[in-house]
Amino acid sequence: MAKYVIALDQGTTSSRAVVFDEHAQIVAMKSYEFEQIYPQPGWVEHDPTAILNTQVDALREAVRISGISVEEIAAIGITNQRETTLLWDRETGRPLHNAIVWQCRRTAPIVKKLCDDGYEPHIRRVTGLVPDAYFSGTKLSWLLDHLDVHDRAERGELCFGTVDSFLAWNLIAGRPHVTDATNASRTMLFDIEKNEWDDTLLDALRIPRAVLPKVVDSSGVIGMLDPAILGRAIPVAAIAGDQHSALFGQGCFAPGMMKNTYGTGCFLLMNTGNRIARSENGLVSTIAWRIGGKCTYALEGSVFVAGAAIQWLRDEMKLIERASETEIIANSIEDCGGVYLVPTFTGLGAPYWDMYSRGLIIGLTRGTGRAHIVRAALESIAYQSADLVQAMATDCGRRPAELRVDGGASANQFLMQFQSDVLGCRVVRPAVIETTALGAALMAGLAVGVWKDMDELSRIWRMDLSLAPKMDDAKREASLKGWHRAVERSMRWAQED
Ligand code: ADP
Repeated sequence: MAKYVIALDQGTTSSRAVVFDEHAQIVAMKSYEFEQIYPQPGWVEHDPTAILNTQVDALREAVRISGISVEEIAAIGITNQRETTLLWDRETGRPLHNAIVWQCRRTAPIVKKLCDDGYEPHIRRVTGLVPDAYFSGTKLSWLLDHLDVHDRAERGELCFGTVDSFLAWNLIAGRPHVTDATNASRTMLFDIEKNEWDDTLLDALRIPRAVLPKVVDSSGVIGMLDPAILGRAIPVAAIAGDQHSALFGQGCFAPGMMKNTYGTGCFLLMNTGNRIARSENGLVSTIAWRIGGKCTYALEGSVFVAGAAIQWLRDEMKLIERASETEIIANSIEDCGGVYLVPTFTGLGAPYWDMYSRGLIIGLTRGTGRAHIVRAALESIAYQSADLVQAMATDCGRRPAELRVDGGASANQFLMQFQSDVLGCRVVRPAVIETTALGAALMAGLAVGVWKDMDELSRIWRMDLSLAPKMDDAKREASLKGWHRAVERSMRWAQED
């Protein structure tokens, strides 16, 4: 019986393939980086061919390294960098333009126009999102205008898709034009309650329905892998955006469960069950996954500068040589001695939303040294995440029992303990840190019967590290109060008089 499941994890800087066995243990993994293209300041693109080729190479190589035979592969799941937008020819499959990457700001004027025209309340209510150039809708609108292909799009000659869609089209026999509900929920064109494309926004952005993919479940067989790729037709049985997949891979199946990914930035998602939780604090509502036609929803918030603050200590301030050093340095002192570092290099996100906030270090005294600054940078990652958790708790009316963590910086045990301390709840790290890939693999395996149900999947999740808060309540309150005073000082700084 085929028992291995492969996740294709198509990320912003690399394409990766991970082979999992039936215990959800990693058997082999391979990734290839590809080029980031910056045509103008603030613009970011990827070459679609590079995305596809690196992904196929990673798949073939991971299978080769694993030593398993293709007959033993039960299913393949796709997870992807979200919001990145592609447009290709339905006849030839050829992309009409480079992929416009989620980070790209070129469509900010289109978003401004939507808001000026009064669409903001509609966007918030229907899509669950805050209007922003980050999401795919305005990127597609820009492509149709810029390439002057509205007529062709109307006639159904073109296909729009996010990266999952582009991969499914190219990897699955019969070229299905599909996306899953999680990726659709990041387009700013999708009604997350009705589960369909929203005509008001399609009209506002002059996007014809004929260009849009069919929206499928996150877990479910979409089709068979083109046999030319591995020499055998294998079910492709899952699609989910990376953060959604990580929430699944973290086993956050019950309402109230949440995970935080500590990378360059942080991504915090909380399962809110079959209910769309509406945020009063600037968080977005999104589809966590759709299985059997039923949506589970999530609240999402992000920290713009997390691990990036550590990179800044290393590359600009030259205070450290390696990110991992920060743990030893932080542990070399009792506390920060009243020093706070607010790394709002690009403004402040949820729950503050002040694009004029700029970074600061405050509370300096004659005794402040390198260790205090390094430790304050680590603490800032935990404080910013704690502010998001607090916002979610307020929006949902419940405190989390624990926070599940992953991502590069979750390796830092000082940071994880401090996170537990300022949250006042347990922080748990799983044995398999590749939660994004794991989520897609679990969804794919679920669809083909490698795992039978969500209960079985819950039992697969294994803990590696569990940290309970050690800080007393008085100290926690005082620390958070100091942080909030520092954040307040950073706000409105870049605003011109
Ligand atoms: P991404 O997927 O965003 O590239 P990763 O999950 O690979 O990020 O994590 C890398 C980030 O985590 C970097 O910003 C790095 O500075 C930070 N980082 C990695 N290891 C540590 C560590 N031990 N302590 C603190 N930060 C770390």
